[in-house]
Amino acid sequence: MGQQAPVQADVVEKLVSLCKQRGFVYPSSEIYGGLNAVYDFGPLGVRLRRNIRERWWRRIVDLRDDVEGIETAILMNPQVWVASGHVQSFTDPLVDCTGTCRKRWRADHLADERRARDKPADAPGCPECGGALTEARQFNLMFKTFIGPVEEDAAQVWLRPETAQGMFVNFANVLNSSRQRVPFGVAQMGKGFRNEISPGNFIFRLREFELMEMEFFCKPGTDREWHEYWCRERLSWHVDDMGVREANLRLRAHEKSELSHYSTATSDIEYHFPFGWGELEGVADRTDYDLKTHMEHSGRDLSYFDVQTNERYIPYVIEPAVGVDRIFITLLVDAYDEEEVRGERRVVLHLHPDVAPVQVAVLPLSKKAELTERARRIEHDLRGNFATEYDETQSIGRRYRRQDEIGTPLAVTFDFDSLEDHAVTIRERDGMTQVRVPIDGLHAALRDQLGTFRTRAGQRAHGGG
Ligand code: ATP
Repeated sequence: MGQQAPVQADVVEKLVSLCKQRGFVYPSSEIYGGLNAVYDFGPLGVRLRRNIRERWWRRIVDLRDDVEGIETAILMNPQVWVASGHVQSFTDPLVDCTGTCRKRWRADHLADERRARDKPADAPGCPECGGALTEARQFNLMFKTFIGPVEEDAAQVWLRPETAQGMFVNFANVLNSSRQRVPFGVAQMGKGFRNEISPGNFIFRLREFELMEMEFFCKPGTDREWHEYWCRERLSWHVDDMGVREANLRLRAHEKSELSHYSTATSDIEYHFPFGWGELEGVADRTDYDLKTHMEHSGRDLSYFDVQTNERYIPYVIEPAVGVDRIFITLLVDAYDEEEVRGERRVVLHLHPDVAPVQVAVLPLSKKAELTERARRIEHDLRGNFATEYDETQSIGRRYRRQDEIGTPLAVTFDFDSLEDHAVTIRERDGMTQVRVPIDGLHAALRDQLGTFRTRAGQRAHGGG
């Protein structure tokens, strides 16, 4: 992978305020002081999330012959989590500071936390205050809740910490109701919940978040090959479909000691965040662990019979798993840019035109009705083909700045001349160049310009431009 692109240390703080001000992300239940590591998404945030989900679904499900999509419930029979090993092993090691700050840490994150504070990774004591730490104890990350009116053990259920189990327990259902044969995959997206010990870095580590996961069932012995395939495929998606700069991404194979209880090999696609390299997506070889354990615990047969070779086996599984929120913060960090324009600071999000919440903004030059009525009509006409927004508030310069800040590639301005020449100005985000085009040909001109943006996004992601 190419040269690492520079990152600004304080970009996350800037993004937190931009996200709130522009309607991407709000702290959850903010008027009551919020809830730690839980966030709400505003009008632009929702658009960005939908684009992320749609691009993922398109590449993983729609464009392929060998993957089916499903949607399973958040609440599942509690036996699922006993069988999967989560009740026993979905734990993180927790240590407490006994010094002045009393902070709680994940024992396996201490070195990173010290490095983030410019301290030696192997320094003794608490990363924050240097105080003595307790022995590590295991802490289960699953949230408990109860079904029925009485809080008794029999009715206890868990909020799912991953969507994967919904796909394993439905393996036979999908196999019997679709025309798929191994190798094939089952994909879904949905909320997951983890009672994280040390959440933080804005929306990087949340307690409620959204997962997009795919379980790819393959013949034992072909799993390593498929693992490599899915690592390449997912890396390419982040670069080509999301426009993330390749230079800020790396693939890192887990050490044996890091592997989850179900995995023999996992590679993380990591992004170079301002706070260090962090996991963006995990691609795990889950072997036959899950199907096997569900066979044992449920007594149902989840093996596969290959009619071509007359063999019966339990498929191995390759799982690419990524969080919508993690992609969201990655896109913002990677796109964020500040520059000086005629003595003023301009903030721009260089978002890929297919993920940008608004693709085309329509702006009348003034609030005079003769302009606003026509501009509104143009915006309505464009809605079927582009993600649009209409804005008539404030000066035109300020409106351009706002669109730059939310990553809108194109702005169409309807001015007084437009009444005479039936033409409008298209202004583009990155170079701020403007062209005049007839209203008749506006659709085609916008399509062309977005095409140019796509090419440029590709060049930027691959290290050029
Ligand atoms: P870690 O070891 O950092 O806690 P993990 O390896 O257990 O994470 P996975 O189970 O591999 O995480 O999760 C798959 C993906 O889900 C991650 O790559 C990330 O994109 C997303 N994800 C996991 N946990 C969170 C979280 N708490 N908040 C937001 N996204 C998350």
